[in-house]
Amino acid sequence: MTRSIAFLDLKAQQARIAPALRARLETVLGHCQFVLGPEVGELEGRLASFCGAGHCVALSSGTDALQIAMMAEGIGPGDAVFLPAFTYTATAEVPLVLGATPIFVDVDPRSFQIDVAHLEARIEAVRAAGSLRPAAIVGVDLFGQPADWPALRRIAGENGLFLLDDCAQSFGGSLCGARLGREADATAISFFPSKPLGGYGDGGALLTDDADRARLYRSLRSHGEGETRYEVLRTGMNGRLDTLQAAVLLAKLDVFEAELARRAQIALAYDRGLSALLDVPARVPDSVSAWAVYAVLLPDAARRDALQAGLRERGVPTAIYYPRPLHLQPAYRPHHDGVVLPVSEDLATRILALPIQPELQDDEVAYVIEQVRAVLA
Ligand SMILES: *Cc1c(COP(=O)(O)O)cnc(C)c1O
Repeated sequence: MTRSIAFLDLKAQQARIAPALRARLETVLGHCQFVLGPEVGELEGRLASFCGAGHCVALSSGTDALQIAMMAEGIGPGDAVFLPAFTYTATAEVPLVLGATPIFVDVDPRSFQIDVAHLEARIEAVRAAGSLRPAAIVGVDLFGQPADWPALRRIAGENGLFLLDDCAQSFGGSLCGARLGREADATAISFFPSKPLGGYGDGGALLTDDADRARLYRSLRSHGEGETRYEVLRTGMNGRLDTLQAAVLLAKLDVFEAELARRAQIALAYDRGLSALLDVPARVPDSVSAWAVYAVLLPDAARRDALQAGLRERGVPTAIYYPRPLHLQPAYRPHHDGVVLPVSEDLATRILALPIQPELQDDEVAYVIEQVRAVLA
């Protein structure tokens, strides 16, 4: 019998946390401090202690978190910002909005994370060309797994670059036993509804151990204000997280660890059921994934597209992250130096994400596995 599997099921999750969620929302409706109300500070404290970071500043989105982090470093025209080509558009959009130049770096064919050898070659080439100043590296923790942070820290240190962790997809994941949030000079996270810790609208945050940076982030999210609200010290933006979103996220944080554990169970079930048939996700050594995405690889585009179509017919939704690497996007191509990034270009044709979300039941996971087998048979 054909079933209908949900790629994301926010209604089921909402039903599970309804009492706590409603109580949280009622409190905000009672005090009416809709901007920077007490829930925002409470959430910042909870998020910082969740990952052991010194400071957390809640913001309007993950994209704004990346932007505020770069504004705080003064990144702008003439600056080169190194980032992977195989990621969500926001990673490259932010340097361009600030007038800086994204330098696209290829990724590892199995972990999908930024290729550190290629990164070093790209930094060297930008230095040799002499027209841009290497300013920052954005390491993206793709799909829930960490980038190679020990290598990225070494490269950033040797080159004097600001190191930013785009952890929008991967908050809750860990490396060498430590939750992500302290691997770089600053870490940006997102609460977009489909992320592992998703709100009911846009939201994000910056984590850092650096008190001066945290102070700057707070100023930048409120129009560059100083000690008093009407003292403007710098050009900032309106980048605050709404109190209502903080209230939603506080209710969700209570079940977050259990949801991460459920995602990991589902990933393991997929591995067991599918590893003989296709390339299941390779694990980054010494890491725990937040399992934002479970992406498999097919031998070629035709077989990927056939699997996606076959699964759709059988009630199993899938997604392609990402159908086009960023350096080939119409908006970014003019800013790209023309270097071919073969791994990113190849992955875009062969990758497919299966449903992985904490509300999936065991029989649904088994159904997905059965249907993949049936289509590939
Ligand atoms: C989702 C995402 C962002 C942007 O986060 P928003 O909260 O949607 O602005 C940035 N980078 C990556 C890698 C993402 O997946």
